[in-house]
Amino acid sequence: MSNFIPYGRQHIEPQDIAAVVETLESDYLTQGPKVPAFEQKLAKLCQATYGCAFSSATAALHIACLALELGCGDRLWTSPITFVASSNSALYCGATVDFVDVEVDTGLLCPLALEEKLKTAEQQGTLPKIVTVVHLAGQSCDMAKIGPLCRRYGVLVIEDASHAVGADYQDKPVGSCQYSDIAIFSFHPVKIITTAEGGMALTNRAELAEKMALLRSHGITRDRAQFQSPDHGPWYYEQLDLGFNYRMTELQAALGLVQCDRLSTFVDTRNALAARYDNAFGELPVSPLRQLAGNRSAYHLYVILCDDKQVNRLALFNHLREHNIGVNVHYIPVHIQPFYRQMGFSDEDFPQAMAYYRRALSLPLYADLTHQQQDYVVSCIKTFCD
Ligand SMILES: *Cc1c(COP(=O)(O)O)cnc(C)c1O
Repeated sequence: MSNFIPYGRQHIEPQDIAAVVETLESDYLTQGPKVPAFEQKLAKLCQATYGCAFSSATAALHIACLALELGCGDRLWTSPITFVASSNSALYCGATVDFVDVEVDTGLLCPLALEEKLKTAEQQGTLPKIVTVVHLAGQSCDMAKIGPLCRRYGVLVIEDASHAVGADYQDKPVGSCQYSDIAIFSFHPVKIITTAEGGMALTNRAELAEKMALLRSHGITRDRAQFQSPDHGPWYYEQLDLGFNYRMTELQAALGLVQCDRLSTFVDTRNALAARYDNAFGELPVSPLRQLAGNRSAYHLYVILCDDKQVNRLALFNHLREHNIGVNVHYIPVHIQPFYRQMGFSDEDFPQAMAYYRRALSLPLYADLTHQQQDYVVSCIKTFCD
């Protein structure tokens, strides 16, 4: 096989292209009707009250932290097994970051480690303002434990659900914010649905939705009810806070709206492909991530954990790349990045995260992956393990 098989890619159909072209020919390229339509549609699908679209999930994470009033002197905790944006968002606000170790067989933030760390932090007066959980690979963290635990300590919760749009947790969609203040999705092309670049924050709290919409667009309002000075005339607007330009365009929202219609199909396909992988690896010294009871993953990623006594992960990675298979590793633990090491973190701080990192390998998984391509991936792994 000569074609390169990536670990993830978008699925674009003629109706996606038509929707974007139609929007290009319309009156609004930005700040029109498509963005609010996309926000409402996805919020409804996820059973949340409000949606706020952004230029990226990174922008959404930043504004979510600001809306929860994270600032200098505050702390945010997150998982070391994530993309750097989960923790960078706190640094943008001038806060400090710490991590909570993961469970090695799921890569998800460990509720027991969180409980211990909260207990100690309370004694030392160093409780975080926010915990950002990460629904790694598309599977929700154990929110029924984490949500109430954080509430008991007065800690706010953000779900970095960048991997998990379309997933279910205990029969509710991820994003319903049942156990959190704000949930974030990413629409980067490798994720479940795409807007090229883009993200969304969902919440059930009206004041947070309003704050995020304000901060997304320079902190400027045209809503007379919010004016602090007398209105000068029809041109009048007021800047009430220091915001940013983190808006999503109409072209992106038009694409997102059409992609939403296929969200459940995408997730079904990913689950079916994941089940085919699961079945193929029964006899091999590699295992899929453990799935928690009550979870239905969106399967942004299909991660296998290599038995490090029997399988050399680097050699397997190289073997698959040599066979044109775009395997990847998600993620290098954030705390060992040079930028984070200079804050004092070291390898030993989060041993479970390091153990996960040594073993993890992401295999190709996306809506257009054919069974034939998938069988080829499996056969290359089998050959390597024999
Ligand atoms: C992709 C991703 C992000 C950032 O998303 P962008 O839309 O690219 O900004 C944040 N967190 C996690 C866990 C991600 O996978």
